[in-house]
Amino acid sequence: MAQWDRSHVLAVGAHPDDIELGCGATLAVHRARGDEITLLVLTEGELGAVPGVTRVEEQEEAAARLGATLRWGGQPDGHVPEGRPTVEVIESVLRDVRPGVIYTHTRRDTHQDHRAAARATFAAARGHSGVLCYEGPTTEGFAPDVYVDVDGFLEAKLDLARAHLSQVLREGLVDVAALEALARHRGYEGRIHHAEAFEIGRLVLDLRPTRTTDHHRRAAAPVPDREGGADATHGGHHDRSDT
Ligand SMILES: [Zn+2]
Repeated sequence: MAQWDRSHVLAVGAHPDDIELGCGATLAVHRARGDEITLLVLTEGELGAVPGVTRVEEQEEAAARLGATLRWGGQPDGHVPEGRPTVEVIESVLRDVRPGVIYTHTRRDTHQDHRAAARATFAAARGHSGVLCYEGPTTEGFAPDVYVDVDGFLEAKLDLARAHLSQVLREGLVDVAALEALARHRGYEGRIHHAEAFEIGRLVLDLRPTRTTDHHRRAAAPVPDREGGADATHGGHHDRSDT
């Protein structure tokens, strides 16, 4: 749909740290491309709080390191509804942000809040063309379809994870070494070096020629009398079709 802003991505997570663990490196790549990033965190993670530390502040710090806009969903930790309240929050953010891609939890997860966040995202994004699902420490049976090359961005992800210090210290829930190993493993699967992996919720490949490929094709087989027409035909396209 034309109204989606392809230079803006939305990541949805149930708790502080979910997004960074699932797709932090991919978001860092988006940022490096100049894309806008919005994080929607559905709960404040109050059940996982550690005395003296607020997970809200940790999430704000992670968003700041990423250069992302942070939105809160106001749902109760442990009891995230998969229905109307959560769907409406996500719909509202979708209306504001018009993201080109939405990253959310995989539905294959042992944590009820993660499953609920995924299902609510799918409901809210029922008319959206780009939904990719990330994995996390409580994911079970993840079956990735697509890999994002995050070579050079792994340290940025680890830095985002470290912003959630309370969870790094708490029973090793955020395990930086494991994140590193996972990125290498997913990279190995993808025949590259470091990767983050995603299940496809919905993905449309835009194979329309960019201006560059258009130029190459004309150079190879010039059709002088259609030169102007070709530009007009493609004039309405997005400048960037490589997302
Ligand atoms: Zn979580």
